Amino acid sequence: MASDYALRYGLSDAEEAWRLRAEAFARDEVAPLSREADRAGRFPRALVPRMAALGLLRAPVAKAHGGAGAGALANALVSEELGRVDGSVRGFLAVHVGLVTQTVAELGTDEQRRAWLPRLMSGETIGCFALTEPGAGSDAAAVATRAREEGDEVVLDGEKHWITNGGVAGLAIVFATADPAAGRKGVEAYLVPTSTPGFSARPMEGHPLGHRASDHARIVLEGCRVPRAARLGPARGGFRVAMAGLDHGRLGVAAGAVGIQAACLEAATAFARTRRQFGQRVGDFQQVGASLAEMKVSLEASRLLVHHAARTLDRTGGPATAETSAAKLFATEAALRTATQAVRVHGARGYDDALPVERHYRDAVGLTIYEGTSEIQRVILARDLLGRDDGGGSTR
Ligand SMILES: Cc1cc2nc3c(=O)[nH]c(=O)nc-3n(C[C@H](O)[C@H](O)[C@H](O)COP(=O)(O)OP(=O)(O)OC[C@H]3O[C@@H](n4cnc5c(N)ncnc54)[C@H](O)[C@@H]3O)c2cc1C
Repeated sequence: MASDYALRYGLSDAEEAWRLRAEAFARDEVAPLSREADRAGRFPRALVPRMAALGLLRAPVAKAHGGAGAGALANALVSEELGRVDGSVRGFLAVHVGLVTQTVAELGTDEQRRAWLPRLMSGETIGCFALTEPGAGSDAAAVATRAREEGDEVVLDGEKHWITNGGVAGLAIVFATADPAAGRKGVEAYLVPTSTPGFSARPMEGHPLGHRASDHARIVLEGCRVPRAARLGPARGGFRVAMAGLDHGRLGVAAGAVGIQAACLEAATAFARTRRQFGQRVGDFQQVGASLAEMKVSLEASRLLVHHAARTLDRTGGPATAETSAAKLFATEAALRTATQAVRVHGARGYDDALPVERHYRDAVGLTIYEGTSEIQRVILARDLLGRDDGGGSTR
């Protein structure tokens, strides 16, 4: 019999099967590790082969490329279910599958696909997406890492930071500029095996607020030589490669934000039903009940925006940049609000890591920053509404 979720949101049998598979994996295999991984600040790498065995690493990749062809909605449901339990493990997936595997599948040459997709989808090789630099965050076109052609090779020099999976990856998509004066038109993307001489990764120095079980690295490229055939996408076409990757990754982030909200609402509701003060359930105080009601509305609205973006991708084949940005903006801001409310509903019991709400709260902040901050999602949406300034016209 179809679940309540499948009936309410009109999932196909195949989509529901993916959701149930991810839900069981998250509950039975991820949840028991989450608190210790968060405390130790260590990525639970043993989960990668399990994700591969369940097909989660190949889910959205087209069957023509050896993937499962599950579609964007099924893949978003996987991220929602993992996000409900563990933002770091869900973050691994958004990067490895959304930013790396899907980008290679869509924009790689046949040779690049043959070389990397089987290894990425089996989990033998972990992928990372090396875009951000100390001097280039939101302004990705400002990357200073240089790509210089020398015969049939390209030499990469520069520094990246905050790269998720960076210390465990075997493959990095590195963004570099072939012509700093050309801005976004100078950017190129390269598929770089992390064993290449001149490539080094070390952990980020600080202790992060959230996503503590993610592997975040500072990557240094010093005379790192790759063949010219390692370029992903056309010459000077790297900025488009980055944006195409982020379209996929962002949907995973938005879906993860839905998962955080679902977990926080469930925990806060259970607590408000049982915790008694002043002789009554705390949930029966109007202010607490109103908080739960707001959390419920945010969750539903976020989930529908994610489903809408995913269904648009499934129907049209993409891109669905504006729909994805709207979902990411709304769902991640809602996750931060809802996680804050969930901690507060629990009082002091929400303030330590005995319960996962405080971890969700810390992770939710990161969701509003990476793969484009909330401000950048508004920039994307405003540009989509306004179109290009053709210099003509006046309101008077
Ligand atoms: C947990 C985590 C994981 C990450 N993983 C990766 C990864 O795998 N790969 C990778 O390449 N990067 C990764 N990042 C980096 C992330 O993508 C960047 O932090 C993000 O793009 C913002 O860049 P920045 O930190 O340099 O902030 P800045 O760009 O310096 O922004 C500072 C502030 O200015 C605002 N701002 C900037 N430009 C505008 C504008 N045009 N309009 C309005 N406001 C603006 C921003 O919204 C922000 O509030 C990760 C970051 C975190 C925290």
